[in-house]
This record gives sequence, C-alpha cells and structure tokens, in this order.
Amino acid sequence: MTTIAAPATGNTPGGIGVIRISGDRAVEIADRVFVCADGSSLLNLKGYRAKFGSVKSAGECFDNAVALVFRAPKSYTGEDVVEISVHGGIYIIEKTLGAVFAAGAEPAQAGEFTKRAFLNGKLDLTQAESVADLISAQGEAAAKASFNLLQGALSDKIRGVTERLTDCSALMAAWVDYPYEEIPELEQEELGETLKTAQAQLQELINSYENGQTMTQGVETVIAGKPNAGKSTLMNLLAGREKSIVTEIAGTTRDVVEESVRLGELVLHLNDTAGIHAGGDAVESIGIQRAMDKISSAVLVLAVFDSSAPLSDEDRTVIEQCRGKRAIAVINKTDLQQRIDAAEIEAAFAETVYISAKNGEGAAELEDAVKRLLGVEQFDASAPILANQRQKSCCKNALDYITEARTALESGMTYDAVNVMMDSAIDELLALTGKKATAEVVDNIFSKFCVGK
Ligand code: GDP
Repeated sequence: MTTIAAPATGNTPGGIGVIRISGDRAVEIADRVFVCADGSSLLNLKGYRAKFGSVKSAGECFDNAVALVFRAPKSYTGEDVVEISVHGGIYIIEKTLGAVFAAGAEPAQAGEFTKRAFLNGKLDLTQAESVADLISAQGEAAAKASFNLLQGALSDKIRGVTERLTDCSALMAAWVDYPYEEIPELEQEELGETLKTAQAQLQELINSYENGQTMTQGVETVIAGKPNAGKSTLMNLLAGREKSIVTEIAGTTRDVVEESVRLGELVLHLNDTAGIHAGGDAVESIGIQRAMDKISSAVLVLAVFDSSAPLSDEDRTVIEQCRGKRAIAVINKTDLQQRIDAAEIEAAFAETVYISAKNGEGAAELEDAVKRLLGVEQFDASAPILANQRQKSCCKNALDYITEARTALESGMTYDAVNVMMDSAIDELLALTGKKATAEVVDNIFSKFCVGK
C-alpha cells in the first residue's frame, strides 16, 4: 500500500488546518517535513503522542505546527497515521501538503482513508457509509441517526440476523451431508421460527426506511398557492431571512426558489413556486407549469390560502392539486379580517393550520402539523435504520430469499433446497455489511466521498 496524504479539514480558511498522512511510511514522511521544537524525531514517537514544532519546505520552516502520531493498528485507517495541524490558511495547507508529497506521499483518492479503514476491518460498510452521512448531516435527526450507525447499530442488528441464519444453515448442511451421524436433527419448527424472526426483523428495517430517509435526508416540500396568498412570506418566515422577493403585485415569484430550512429536528427542502393562476405572461406560464410539476413530485405540500379573501377558483385548483398528496392547508393572514370559507378547506386536508406568515403567529402549530403528517413524531433516532438504497435493496433481497426458504420448508422441500435460499439470503446480508461485497460495490461507495475523508 502506498502512503497517502490529503487535507482532512475543509477548503476554507480556519484557525487550524489538518493534513492527514496514512500508510507504512507516514511517520518517516512526516518526519521529513516536521521539525520537533525539542530537537527530537517523530520516528521514535509512540502512538497517540503529539509534538510541537514547525513545518518546513525546501529546508525552510514556514509555520508552527503540531504533529500527532497514531501507530498501526490503532488509528482511523488501521495504518500508521500522522496528522499535522498547521494554521488553517489555504496557502499554508497547500504548502504543507506539497512538502508532504515531495517527501514521498501520494495524493489520497476520494474516500481513500475511510476505504482503508474498511479494508483493514476498522469499520464495516454501513459504518463507512455513515461517516459520509454524518459529515453531510444538516439537522439533529440526521446527525443522531448517522452517529448511531457509525457506532454499529445497523451492523449489530444485521450481524445478529446473519449469525442465526448461518447457524441454522450449517446444521442443515451437516444433516444433509451426514445423515447417519449423531447430529441432532434440526426441528422443522425451530427452523421455521428462525426464518420467521429474520423475516420480521428485516421487514421492520425496510418499513422504517422511508421515515429514516425523511429524517436524515430532509423532505422535498413545495409551498403552493395562488399569487399573493403569502407563499414567499411563509418561506421567509421558515427560512428566517429574505430569500424570495415579496411584493404586492400578483405573480412576482416567477419561478421555483429553493431553500433548505430546519424545522425542529427535520430539514425541509423548500420550493416556493410561482403562484398558480390563470393567464399571465409566457415566463409566468413556464413557472406555473413547473409549480404543478413540483407539487406532483413533492413529498410534502404546504398549500397557502389568503384568509382575507373569499375562496376563489384558483384556491380550488390548489385544493384539487393537493388531493392524494401529503398536504397541509396553511390558512394565512389571520391578522386580517377573515373572509375565507375555512370549512371547505379543512374538509379537503388532513391538517389545517392558521398562521400569520407576516408576524410569525402559528409557526409552532405548523411545525407540529408537519411532524404529525409525516409520522416522524415516533421516529427513534437511536434505532438502527437503513441509510440508503443499497442497504435497502440488500435487505429486500435477503428478505425475498428467506420468504422463499420458508415457503419451500412449509411445502416439504428438502433441507438442501431450503439451504440454497438461506445461503443466498446470508450472502445479501454479508454484502450489506461489506463482508462479501464486490470490489465494484466498494469502489462505488467510496468514490462518492470527498478527498480527505
Ligand atoms: P406570494 O405571491 O404567495 O408569494 O405572496 P407574498 O408572500 O409575496 O405576499 C403577498 C402580500 O401579502 C405581501 O404584501 C405580504 O406582505 C402580504 N402578506 C403575506 N403574509 C401575510 C400575513 O400573514 N398577514 C398580512 N397582513 N399580510 C401578509
């Protein structure tokens, strides 16, 4: 394995910037660019020890630094690792990195540190994936759920299911191979129970997928309504700052404006759409069509109504658009004289909230309604969840094989026939945690990481 290096901190100026070096030659390379203030050498330093000193390039010191040494296998990657902390200016970080490359390190590929950690058995695939998720988490629920997976919650659960299936499979194989030996015959009932339990556990994980995605990835949300209903004002209220242009001329939000906002533990990816109304110019018509498309693909719709005016045909179009969708009626402008027929709206929506987007009244009720409608109030961030489509599809395939195995067992097929399906189920679970994942799958996962992770 080559010795690799990359900045571990972001590409913006900060107090400190960290260059991470990993591989057999990590300490030797770090020692070439780092001068210990006490005259000692990094080469003799034990793991988990730090030295103050300076970094040098072409024989000249250019910044004060701290070198932290980790010795294999007790490091993030499982290899020798040195982290050099310099002042966090982009130029200084690049200069340090240049010196490290000149001393013999290779540039790290995207995700290569975490990939090495995986290959060295420090993390399984679900944990490696959670590193990327934890870094990109935008809200509390996402961060908690990802940290939980990093701690091995999903790995433990899948390992438990896999071990029980493997035990049964081994016993069945033995019974098939040596029918005359003194091997206790596996009771059909017991086998059936094991399969049933595995089915239930995998099904539970699959069921929680959507909810988990909602909590961790955020919710595609559309703010819909006729012009001047207060969509942009609501968006600004949720975003906490001016983003959409709010004016009193109908139709001023000409296209879809996007913004991600935190609502309690949730993250909403808000789309403030052009008002839905008849007529308008060509630009507006395109905006309106896009608004319609956005509504149909959104996970959540906030349908805004101006309560200071009677319900109009445009409002009824919005109501129609929301049918069959997860939509909340947001009856806006409660600070003005009320002229809307709220009963007709309430009848059409599972949730109706009354707000004044202008002064913020009712925002807390809106947050509660969103949580209720998305069913996230019961979300348990400490329970293992499937974090992505790959994990879900491994789980689903395993479940299908187990279901087939159960059917085969119940219809009286031989143990070796049942065992073929159990082995396939086990393979899927091993692929999930990465024990048996193909190099292609592994490369694909880590290619999505950034350099330095
Ligand atoms: P949009 O076309 O649906 O995006 O509507 P805007 O957000 O641009 O709002 C249209 C007008 O209604 C603006 O003058 C807002 O200040 C006003 N408005 C929005 N929400 C409220 C509210 O809760 N109360 C009152 N009184 N005016 C509001």
